[in-house]
Amino acid sequence: MALSYTGKHEARPDIQMAQATGSLSAVTETRQVPRASKIAPDSRIRLLEASRRFTVRGQEFSAIEGFDLTVRQGEFVALVGPSGCGKSTVLNMIAGIVEPSSGTVLYDGVPLNGLNRNVGYMTQKDTLLPWRNVADNVGIALELKCRKVSAAERARRVAEIVERVGLKGFEKAFPGQLSGGMRKRVALARTLVYEPETLLMDEPFGALDAQLRLLMLDLLQKLTRAQGSTVIFVTHDLGEAITLADRVVVFSARPGRIKASRAVELERPRDVFKLRFSKYFAGLHEELWEQLKDEVSKGTDA
Ligand code: ADP
Ligand code: MG
Repeated sequence: MALSYTGKHEARPDIQMAQATGSLSAVTETRQVPRASKIAPDSRIRLLEASRRFTVRGQEFSAIEGFDLTVRQGEFVALVGPSGCGKSTVLNMIAGIVEPSSGTVLYDGVPLNGLNRNVGYMTQKDTLLPWRNVADNVGIALELKCRKVSAAERARRVAEIVERVGLKGFEKAFPGQLSGGMRKRVALARTLVYEPETLLMDEPFGALDAQLRLLMLDLLQKLTRAQGSTVIFVTHDLGEAITLADRVVVFSARPGRIKASRAVELERPRDVFKLRFSKYFAGLHEELWEQLKDEVSKGTDA
């Protein structure tokens, strides 16, 4: 269903219902169709000519400019680019934490207005609460007013996801007693426990060593497939991007724009441990690195 909508939507109970349920079928009224909001039926996220400017010490600069991106429902998109090119800014705009200075961010065809409650967001820092044990860290979202469930239901869901991320038996442990890899598993479980339809991940496994990272990629791939999630995954590691994604998007140096967008024509799920030894992987890696290397050497934040 193509939805178009121009105004603010705090006074639109039907749109609020659509956002809460993730279903556009709740929207009863369609307003005037602006050119920019014509959407493909399965497009979950769209950035249209999005720009974001910041002012630092009196100097204004563009972090991203004229940025167009469409992500389909269920698609796994990796964003790669040099440090400082605006990758986190793009995720923050999709999460509704940062507003575009100009342009539009649409979620299910509706312009974002405030926090986007359809997304789960996992950042590089795991931000676990040190005074809460694993189970209580994982269940925290289900205690929030907007996602509250009964204590019994919370316990059931927490037990299930804790087992799926391989932490059964560690429910009562505190973050300070866990290894870096285990803390990442807790952070992943905490994000997935309420089954967000879209997952935003900002270099989530950057701090882990190479082997542990592959294990986490494998786990992420399995869990997001099981939940049918749409995923936007930011990484500076091209190999990670190719291993996981349906599509790899390469950013230019700041101001960030899309320099290249390339489909990874491999079935999912993939063998994350072996894929990097295949010819296809090597070819695609080389092709994308050609695009990326000039941008990296421009060294926006270096
Ligand atoms: P990336 O994630 O690709 O490394 P960011 O999106 O974090 O890049 O940042 C892009 C640019 O915008 C950087 O130069 C960064 O310093 C700047 N920036 C990001 N957020 C802010 C902010 N809140 N205030 C000022 N500058 C910011
Ligand atoms: Mg960043």
